Amino acid sequence: MTTSISSNDLMNKILDGLKNIVDKDQILFDEPLSKHTTFEIGGPADLFIMPKTTIELVDIIKLCKKLDYPYFVMGGGSDLLVDDRGFRGAILCTADLMAGMYTQENELVAQAGCSLKDMCDLACYMGLGGLEFACGIPGTLGGACFMNAGAYDGQMSDVLKDVQILTHDGYIESIPAKDLNFGYRQSLIKDEQLVVLEATLSLKYKDSAEIQSLMDELTSRREAKQPLDLPSAGSTFKRPEGHFAGKLIQDAGLQGYTVGGAQVSTKHAGFVVNFDHASAADVIAVIRHIQGEIKNQFDVDMFPEVRYLGEYGEQESL
Ligand SMILES: Cc1cc2nc3c(=O)[nH]c(=O)nc-3n(C[C@H](O)[C@H](O)[C@H](O)COP(=O)(O)OP(=O)(O)OC[C@H]3O[C@@H](n4cnc5c(N)ncnc54)[C@H](O)[C@@H]3O)c2cc1C
Repeated sequence: MTTSISSNDLMNKILDGLKNIVDKDQILFDEPLSKHTTFEIGGPADLFIMPKTTIELVDIIKLCKKLDYPYFVMGGGSDLLVDDRGFRGAILCTADLMAGMYTQENELVAQAGCSLKDMCDLACYMGLGGLEFACGIPGTLGGACFMNAGAYDGQMSDVLKDVQILTHDGYIESIPAKDLNFGYRQSLIKDEQLVVLEATLSLKYKDSAEIQSLMDELTSRREAKQPLDLPSAGSTFKRPEGHFAGKLIQDAGLQGYTVGGAQVSTKHAGFVVNFDHASAADVIAVIRHIQGEIKNQFDVDMFPEVRYLGEYGEQESL
């Protein structure tokens, strides 16, 4: 008889193991991932686990590996399009509970689940500048390291000193940022699917009022340009070399293009928004149409920035 990953047997073993790692209330069953992604799209995860500490996260991953149980580490879900059927396995979500941070002289040390916004607020309060660019990026530190998130001429690699990661062999290692092959929305963490546990940022002493005023200005610029009133995952596509994704989409006459409840934003063509109970299939149809049109009209390849989590795991490209 074959054993499927959702067999009662395997589920019982996982739950048995989890009992020794986390409290009952840190585990949710059949949890809709639409509740945990900024797109507000995604079917249920068999298990949705919220570790509170680095050790809990590491132990859960070790347990899943030992039992060959599929798992996926997510943060704020602000760069994820999750399949309508959800995910068969355990989602390990760092956002909210794994969110301790402190400053030490000009350094800010934070756990993977800290929101960039909270980190920016702490840095501002402590008079530490350099992270202002990130104040409107709605994700966690872990996701931001993975994506080398950036905005307004700043990116995570500018401020990261080192990142504590979990290796595939189960070791916890602190890797200097210069060894993490950071590039545009690129990192060794992403290439090798490493797990970020925490990171140290090296910031510069700066007047808190100046930091706040820069953050306010960047927030106003975002509010003016981006469709922040509708669910999305931010910029849908990476910037194609020599072009701007939004401008190409606009020039192709695709602004407002709609499939089901998904639409190319009428405010910013670079965003696909969920304007009316969109499914992942609707968003994918919009993405595919854009890719085809831009290729036909301008001979440019468009690659999604947003990550796609399928029922059986993450896929690099849509
Ligand atoms: C309105 C809006 C505006 C945005 N603006 C910007 C912007 O200006 N610049 C920008 O770069 N992005 C932007 N984004 C996209 C997104 O916020 C960033 O990519 C962010 O860094 C994703 O972090 P997250 O915690 O939400 O990651 P998630 O969406 O949860 O996950 C994204 C990827 O990171 C991985 N990941 C998450 N946590 C970890 C971890 N601890 N260890 C290893 N891998 C991990 C996941 O496995 C997944 O592959 C925007 C999104 C929205 C909705």
